[in-house]
Amino acid sequence: MHTLQNILHICLLPLSFPDHELLTELSSVLGEIFRIPVVISNKHFSLEDGKDYVRNQYNSTWILAQILEQFPEDSYKILGVTTVDLYVPVLTYVFGEAQLDGTAAVVSIHRLRDELYGLPKNPQKLQERLEKEAIHELGHTFGLIHCSQPQCVMYTSTYAEEIDFKPKYFCHSCLQELSAKSKK
Ligand SMILES: [Zn+2]
Ligand SMILES: [Zn+2]
Repeated sequence: MHTLQNILHICLLPLSFPDHELLTELSSVLGEIFRIPVVISNKHFSLEDGKDYVRNQYNSTWILAQILEQFPEDSYKILGVTTVDLYVPVLTYVFGEAQLDGTAAVVSIHRLRDELYGLPKNPQKLQERLEKEAIHELGHTFGLIHCSQPQCVMYTSTYAEEIDFKPKYFCHSCLQELSAKSKK
């Protein structure tokens, strides 16, 4: 059990993400929630080929594929964190995307910032929203699907302010599923 836990870790990958302080905060929260080590990668790669110049957004599915291509197959969980606006072709935008029961996930702070909606900057709120969305996307990589329980981080949020109503924690049943899956 101990050896297993030493190998397993979450890798945070900054993708054009200059705010190192926010990442450091995020890494400690993720470590507390998932109870595995979190490292911040210094690998660099360009997002340019994932940009749709008409939409002025970046394809999150393309980013996931890039992450998987750049990391060794035995990587445990890799979460890209970015400032660019993400989309999948069928949706106007996404806060993030993850491989269900897989390795890679990506999350963006672009639409989590109050100033995008004409409100004053709120760094505390931004940090909390990022934590929740990062935990949510990583939850998907552990095989968790959306939860019907509004008091669960796996509850789905369409608008940024909806994220504020859910906690950064898993409900009892998601937590049970998570611990069963992460022991695999
Ligand atoms: Zn989701
Ligand atoms: Zn739940």
